[in-house]
Amino acid sequence: GSVTRKPLIAGNWKMNLDHLQAVAFVQKLHWTLKDAAHETDSVEVVVFPPFTDIRTVQTLIDADKIPFALGAQDLSTKDSGAYTGEVSGAFLKKLAADYVIIGHSERREYHAESDEVVAAKVQAALRHDLVPVICVGETLEQREESGPTAVAVAQLRAALEGVSADADVVVAYEPVWAIGTGQVASPEQAQEVCAALRTVISESLGDAAAERTRILYGGSVKSGNIASFMREPDVDGALVGGASLLADEFAAIIRYQK
Ligand code: PGA
Repeated sequence: GSVTRKPLIAGNWKMNLDHLQAVAFVQKLHWTLKDAAHETDSVEVVVFPPFTDIRTVQTLIDADKIPFALGAQDLSTKDSGAYTGEVSGAFLKKLAADYVIIGHSERREYHAESDEVVAAKVQAALRHDLVPVICVGETLEQREESGPTAVAVAQLRAALEGVSADADVVVAYEPVWAIGTGQVASPEQAQEVCAALRTVISESLGDAAAERTRILYGGSVKSGNIASFMREPDVDGALVGGASLLADEFAAIIRYQK
């Protein structure tokens, strides 16, 4: 991390927790953090529930003044119209979502999302004043073939096509081989790719954007390894999957400085 960039801890729930379970979970997480005197100013926390939970979680966060930001896990490239099953950025913004995950490897793999689709979704997010959390990362095969940085660098270049220098974006480096596998990348491996991604931001959006933009590591992040990632200069936070569904564990990740 860096002193100029506020650490961001993001919980990607994936397709877990219905809206009733979400209420219980967010309350439990909030209590856990309150008991521990969580310093809400030093770390930004964002939760990414399924679409069907967003309204409920937003209402709860509002009513109980819980200091979490809210995001969605995907959005449509389109803004409205005859696109059955799609959810637009305009609707998400109306629900007070601030962030949206784009190009997660599970969407690239199971929904054949290409770099072009990812770039179109980044544009859709920015049109509606949502901060895209752009996910990039290589498979083990790709790492062996073309080295650690090539795939992530190419994916990010494509995603930033046409993005303006003052746009607010977040980048998440998630090596596919580390997602949900327990096979975590080393802090050095994460740093190497995150540094290369910062160079891409600098080339695409300029030095000021590179200095300001937060780059997260994701893939088997847990309370026991978060601090080692956060010590790396180009890692500004984490995108957490499995461990974000366990209140004690996610609270401990948020409190990694303690
Ligand atoms: P994981 O998932 O923490 O369960 O590895 C990370 C992600 O997919 O964002």
